[in-house]
Amino acid sequence: MIPVISLEGELTATDGRRGKGVFQRALLSMEMLQKEKLFFGTSITVTTENYLEVTSEEFLSHLASLGCKLVFYVEYVPFDESTEHLAFRDEHVAEMEQILEERREQYKKMIFLSFPGDEKALDGCMAAGRGFFHIGPDGSAEPCPFSPFSDRNVAQTGLRDAIASPLFRKIRDARALGWEHTGGCTLYEHRDEVKKMIG
Ligand code: SF4
Repeated sequence: MIPVISLEGELTATDGRRGKGVFQRALLSMEMLQKEKLFFGTSITVTTENYLEVTSEEFLSHLASLGCKLVFYVEYVPFDESTEHLAFRDEHVAEMEQILEERREQYKKMIFLSFPGDEKALDGCMAAGRGFFHIGPDGSAEPCPFSPFSDRNVAQTGLRDAIASPLFRKIRDARALGWEHTGGCTLYEHRDEVKKMIG
């Protein structure tokens, strides 16, 4: 079990999207994890506006100094036309791949994974407890940040029960039965079916 804490970049970017004080709370959690010598990571939504900052040596050296050893880069998925300019185009994907190749050489003690790009190599969608799941601010267990549906709250049921929830099991079974990874987000493509699985 690896704790992964969501960030958007440094203070301004993180608090700008997630609310005032979130960045400091995230740093405090990282300090506590480092003190306990636990392996942990961070997850960062990458957009056309922040990808250079969150892959910069300055930012990654800061994360390394906090003891963070795993970085998930998750490409932003637009939820309507007004945010489409934030989504990666092919040239951003190619540039990101090149930057990450360099960073993997520079930061040998850190693991860098980019989603959904690297998921094909991991045999498809990792959501709903197959590889990870997401915990929302209120404790709701969601298959993935891109699939904000939930039938369990970890604050009430604990982690083990959340991973075994009916919703997560149905998604894992559906994926095993052939929800292909087409290069985009599998659960976003199947969002209507996922919604029907709750209940
Ligand atoms: S829901 Fe989408 S982004 Fe999340 S793990 Fe599955 S394919 Fe990747």
